[in-house]
Amino acid sequence: MATPRKTASPRQFSLNSEEHSIDNSLANHLIYTSGRHAEAATTRDWYETTAHTVRDHLIERWVETVENYYDKDPKRVYYLSLEFLIGRMLSNAALNLGIDGQVREGLHALGQTMEAVSDMETDAALGNGGLGRLAACFLDSMATLDLPGMGYGIRYEYGMFNQHIENGQQVEHPDNWLRYGNPWEFQRPERLYPVKFYGHVVEFPAQDGSVEQHWVDCETVMAMAYDMPVPGYNTETVNNLRLWSAKATREFNLDSFNAGDYVGAVEDKTSTENLSKVLYPNDTSVMGRELRLRQQYFFVSASIQDILHRFTHEHDSSWELLPEKVAIQLNDTHPAIAVAEMMHALVDVYRLKWDRAWSLTTRVFAYTNHTLMPEALETWPVDMFERVLPRHLDIIYKINHYFLHDVNHRFPGDTELLKRVSIIDEDHGRRVRMAHLAVVGSHTVNGVAAIHSDLLKTTLFADFNRIFPGKIINVTNGITPRRWLNQCNPGLTELIASRIGSGFIKDLSQIEKLAPFAEDARFRKEFMQIKQANKQRLVERIHHRLGMRIDPESMFDVQVKRIHEYKRQLLNVLHVITLYNRIRSGKTEGMTPRTVIFAGKAAPGYRMAKLIIRLILDVAGMVNRDPAINGLLKVIFLPNYDVSSAERIFPASDLSEQISTAGTEASGTGNMKMALNGALTIGTLDGANIEIREEVGEDNIFIFGLTTQQVAELRMRGYNPWEYYNANAELKQALDMIAEGYFSVEEPERYKPIYETLTWNGDYYLLLADYASYVKTQEDVGALYRDKDEWARRAILNVARVGKFSSDRTIREYAQKVWGVEPVAR
Ligand SMILES: *Cc1c(COP(=O)(O)O)cnc(C)c1O
Repeated sequence: MATPRKTASPRQFSLNSEEHSIDNSLANHLIYTSGRHAEAATTRDWYETTAHTVRDHLIERWVETVENYYDKDPKRVYYLSLEFLIGRMLSNAALNLGIDGQVREGLHALGQTMEAVSDMETDAALGNGGLGRLAACFLDSMATLDLPGMGYGIRYEYGMFNQHIENGQQVEHPDNWLRYGNPWEFQRPERLYPVKFYGHVVEFPAQDGSVEQHWVDCETVMAMAYDMPVPGYNTETVNNLRLWSAKATREFNLDSFNAGDYVGAVEDKTSTENLSKVLYPNDTSVMGRELRLRQQYFFVSASIQDILHRFTHEHDSSWELLPEKVAIQLNDTHPAIAVAEMMHALVDVYRLKWDRAWSLTTRVFAYTNHTLMPEALETWPVDMFERVLPRHLDIIYKINHYFLHDVNHRFPGDTELLKRVSIIDEDHGRRVRMAHLAVVGSHTVNGVAAIHSDLLKTTLFADFNRIFPGKIINVTNGITPRRWLNQCNPGLTELIASRIGSGFIKDLSQIEKLAPFAEDARFRKEFMQIKQANKQRLVERIHHRLGMRIDPESMFDVQVKRIHEYKRQLLNVLHVITLYNRIRSGKTEGMTPRTVIFAGKAAPGYRMAKLIIRLILDVAGMVNRDPAINGLLKVIFLPNYDVSSAERIFPASDLSEQISTAGTEASGTGNMKMALNGALTIGTLDGANIEIREEVGEDNIFIFGLTTQQVAELRMRGYNPWEYYNANAELKQALDMIAEGYFSVEEPERYKPIYETLTWNGDYYLLLADYASYVKTQEDVGALYRDKDEWARRAILNVARVGKFSSDRTIREYAQKVWGVEPVAR
């Protein structure tokens, strides 16, 4: 082991002194960081000032955490993810560090509010949706549990696009999130690695008689590290998120420069730096572009080099220690090329024998699958792969050769099995199957909710489950209660703490102590007052942003998530149209006033999803303008759904819409966030909804629709949407209105594609089959909402019984069952 570093005595530069009080620090940073006097300071200046004040407190613990890991040399876990949907840092960092009260008061004394100042921060939106947000929740939990974890990803210059609504349609605007600088990142110019592309492989005879593979004539891009601190809650631990930025190897292409083409020379530089320019905005579907493959390899190669640099620095070439010191988690198949990159490093660079390298590699990696949907399964054409990463294709062929050899040995003569499990798909023009590479290269594969893991074992990975019994396990997703309760819903947090103390923030299982208060009338009243205040805040925001007045007494019926056919926003729209028709024909008896709130982004190339947004907006326009509606129904589409808007919406939600076709939503995490904030769920038996039902009890959730098994049976039997269409007058009426242009009078054909998808084209996601059950269940929901006290009782039971869905629990399971890592004490 390398000699320990000389360490500064802890807290040598302690900020816990009068001189460095928050108040003084704010005053100092205003002058010395923002360069302002208080009279001239803008809210943005105050944001910068406050961010630097909080940052100072982070840095101290961050540096000490690094030293501590270095001294104790624990096994570390590296979470590789192409996405980290972080959101804002300021209020989260202040909360986790335990200085939010002081910061709030300090700002108040200076005539500012924390809310206004926080609102100046641009979200770090380096992710699409659930998968990226999960990675961010996991970082929070790893730090909170004092686990030596580190995230690796890409520092996209442009994150998830900003969604504008123009002429009733989604328009994408670039997310230039770094425009005003980023006080939460630290550039590490010395943490720089070359990443190679293209070229070809040549063989050299080695001295020992074997053959060495050399990857030559490559193009090289440099990966430079940017670090972001990740503070745990109520602990000294501050972990690291390391994001890679692409830098050209040379400032100029000298040939062009010498030829007098100055602009051309600079253009070449920008083309290599394109690698970390922009996040691909596709959720649960793949974009088979070469740039995407290069992004994946870029961040994977830099991360593996960095991990092995750290390992060899501490352990030289004691490679047998690698699986005892390093665990690497692959967040979906996006970083699956890491399996081949590790082999490339161990065999080609460090010159280990293949078998030894393979044994080490498969003891290091684990892989999380996030979806069963075929359009999300990444495969790369062999010829593209060969051009971009020729050496890695060779390595994959060799991995595949040994793997298929083993399978053939254990299941002799089953050539169909060999074809099915091969890493190379030979039937669709020869493609590399990244999921197969990830499964073969990992010791553990997990699904993200019980039903999803079961389906993995019986469908998508059934063959692998036979070949590698026990390799596929379940680890149900979770969310961090810091951001998704404490930070976004301080009123509810305080109310809970007033009854059961504040231990639940770090140990969410304690929230079950709240259950008896569901029977306490006074508590129910206070609980509903907080919900009402949260709704009022959202009402004001909507008025401010959209100029619309909504009724805070109406039920807030909320579906916020990516727009995708499988999530069935259209089923919700069919219900809205049904309510609208009932109101217009006077069938309003016992109807509960509702505000149906939608938010979510559509992938820019996903035409149906964009058309669904347009329909929601057209239906909203029609409903909201109609005087006959008389306050019974309002429809809102909130533009630009992101983490910060989610933090405002969830605490104000009454009803949580989780209505995906059974078997399609792997887990969902929006469902957990809403239940924790006291919304009741209407949902199918899909993803984590099933486990939420188990926890909260079936009386406290509204379940409808076909089960996964019934979905499979119906499809097997031959599903005919027309049967449902013809059998249900209200359904037929709603669909006909869409088809005939009722909501698009100026362009009657506009929604024909939606109608056709749901009828002639077979309604793949079975909306028509679930419609009647959904509408009936919505009536039950409406009826219960009129009994406010009973509603409150059930909502409280939801809050009290979702302790399981803390990402702390999830991360503890990963630590024990997958990574073999333990908390590091100070
Ligand atoms: C939680 C979250 C998601 C995931 O929501 P689902 O309903 O599980 O799809 C997506 N985007 C944001 C901003 C989130 O906070």
